[in-house]
Amino acid sequence: MSKKILVANWKNHPESLDEVKVILKGLSRKSAVYKKLNFFIAPPLSYLESVSKGIKSFGSLASQDIPTVIEGTHTGIVSVNILKNFGTRLSIIGHSERRAMGETNKEISLKIKIALKSGIIPLLCVGELVRGKEGEHFEFIREQIRLSLEGIKKADLYKKVVIAYEPIWAIGKSAKEAIEPKDLEQMIIFIKKVLTDLFGRDLAENTMILYGGSVEATNIGSIMDVGVDGFLVGHASLEAGSLNSIASSLIS
Ligand code: PEP
Repeated sequence: MSKKILVANWKNHPESLDEVKVILKGLSRKSAVYKKLNFFIAPPLSYLESVSKGIKSFGSLASQDIPTVIEGTHTGIVSVNILKNFGTRLSIIGHSERRAMGETNKEISLKIKIALKSGIIPLLCVGELVRGKEGEHFEFIREQIRLSLEGIKKADLYKKVVIAYEPIWAIGKSAKEAIEPKDLEQMIIFIKKVLTDLFGRDLAENTMILYGGSVEATNIGSIMDVGVDGFLVGHASLEAGSLNSIASSLIS
């Protein structure tokens, strides 16, 4: 079985390099644990160098997004090549907070293509705003996956794309408000069915599916054995102690 994936999405935090150093020092105490996982940190761009150096022996850099432009001069853009040269191995693509800023499925599919072409693992985020009583959220997820992967060849996605199911209603809350294990299990099965319908069973069986949305040290135990291949962690990844506990649970 391949290693579980753990991605820390730091978003626009922490606010100082000193705080970054404190987190990295705390994580390094559990480097042996992180080595047993595929561990990534997606920091704000200003901390790329510090994080890349700080986790060199036990983790890799991820980016929180990827630009849609490759060539030419573009003020304000950090190019894919810069990301790559700093050691970025994975890009979070289509996070709900970026979709809320207007990012479309079309742009997301372009970003996935760019990541694949650059040898960066695209981590496609999908997730509904609310759970529908009649199960409408399942169809919403099907459409998000279909449109986000539209125009991308199966051979390019095979064993490369990773999907993160991140229901928006569960993001940034507390462990108590996160998803129920049975609902997560059902959604993982559904996502595999969608992938089977779109690209065939072999691709579905070889695509890793993560969960994100208020994963904390207190609920990881109940949701880690329901078919998920790893986790995307937001607020709980900004404190070394809580991320260390989550990571330790994943290898137990
Ligand atoms: C996220 O926004 O990707 C996320 C998982 O956040 P949190 O863990 O804070 O819910």
